[in-house]
Amino acid sequence: MSKPVLHCPHAKKCGGCQLQNMTYERQLSFKQVKVIKLLGKYRHVDEIIGMPHPYHYRNKVQAAFGERGREIISGIYQSSTHKIVPVDRCLIEDEKADEIIVTIRKLVKSFKLRAFNDEIMKGFLRHVLIKRGFSSGQVMVVLVTGTMEFPKEEPFVNALLSRHPEITTIVQNVNNKRTSLLLGEESRVLFGDGYIEEDLCGFRFRISPKAFYQINPTQTEVLYNKALTFAELTGKETVLDAYCGTGTIGIIASPRAKGVVGVELNADAVKDAKVNAGLNGVENIEFYEDDAGRFMVKEAQRGARYDVVLMDPPRAGASQEFLRSLVTLAPKKVVYISCNPETQARDLAFLVKNGYRVKKIQPVDMFPHTEHVECVVSLMRK
Ligand code: SAH
Repeated sequence: MSKPVLHCPHAKKCGGCQLQNMTYERQLSFKQVKVIKLLGKYRHVDEIIGMPHPYHYRNKVQAAFGERGREIISGIYQSSTHKIVPVDRCLIEDEKADEIIVTIRKLVKSFKLRAFNDEIMKGFLRHVLIKRGFSSGQVMVVLVTGTMEFPKEEPFVNALLSRHPEITTIVQNVNNKRTSLLLGEESRVLFGDGYIEEDLCGFRFRISPKAFYQINPTQTEVLYNKALTFAELTGKETVLDAYCGTGTIGIIASPRAKGVVGVELNADAVKDAKVNAGLNGVENIEFYEDDAGRFMVKEAQRGARYDVVLMDPPRAGASQEFLRSLVTLAPKKVVYISCNPETQARDLAFLVKNGYRVKKIQPVDMFPHTEHVECVVSLMRK
């Protein structure tokens, strides 16, 4: 029996945890059924791997800042609106990050700074983004501001550090555009290195403000271990890590492969990936900054050979271009990690029609209490 759901006072207004009202056990079976409906026609779906303690798992927390009357408020945007729901504690977010956000709100008030108003596009503090390395203990605070000018910068930074000595770096990012993107173009390091490091599966990774990094580190280890088991590497394979982010999966796979190539669109992530290879002394890996689809077409044209392709695309899934070139490259194995079983089902249909057989389907619960499902699938060339 799983325990009853903890009560969240913000649930209705926030809307982020769509499965709030179910026990955790029910949530898991809800997700299992969803995957069976979408992918079950290809193969038996193994039982979803849940979390023993499905709370405070998010290592990345962001809060929007605004003003209500003369008060500074911080919290989450109400689903599909721009209205801030004031939230101090969230059941899925890292508790330390939530504490730091409350401190920042108090400091903004005591330093008589303003929150950004995105209707008139004026003011100072717009968002706070925090990333915490659960195993390294490092904490990065990104203050997203409407202006580059930071009134009372030094005393503000010092006050924040004295209240939270666990903070290892503080970055200011300027975002003065009308956009739903959190971060703007320009950044400035106010304290520390401007990035944090984190340990995962026995390797060390640099995480910078803009690069993608899995938000649930506990389950990421479970997910990656499954993906690598499915890849069945023996040390002789040439592996492609497509949509590689900061190179995590490829680097973890590298000791078991002859060579690894990673491809990723986000320039900051590719920079981190190269640093990460160095941090871990990995020499049999190369990273390319490119659209994965375009890269695959080029690889297919030059007759490249890959034994195993690990792919982990964003919610939209892989492009047609990517899938067609994948079939041309014809690796013996494909391990497809996805955070959206709908697009994964669409892409599997193509691969199954074009010479691949599904061998294993393993859902992993990366996002407890939300409706999101992560799934890793292994395919073999027929
Ligand atoms: N495998 C990584 C990242 C997965 S998230 C990890 O586990 O951490 C998906 C990644 O795909 C993101 O880093 C995103 O920047 C990248 N991406 C999105 N569209 C892309 C494209 N068209 N080509 C290559 N990479 C892309």
